[in-house]
Amino acid sequence: MAVQQRRNSKTRTAKRRTHYKLTAPTMVKCPSCGEMKLPHRACPNCGAK
Ligand SMILES: [Zn+2]
Repeated sequence: MAVQQRRNSKTRTAKRRTHYKLTAPTMVKCPSCGEMKLPHRACPNCGAK
């Protein structure tokens, strides 16, 4: 088994984590009630597809 030789520096960890970011979910307007909803999902407000 490979054994870690040294601890990653804070900079190295931070550089790796630059790719860890959340993206805001895409929302579309419900055609029947006008509420914002996720695309291709039933509307949580009115239940329309
Ligand atoms: Zn709706």
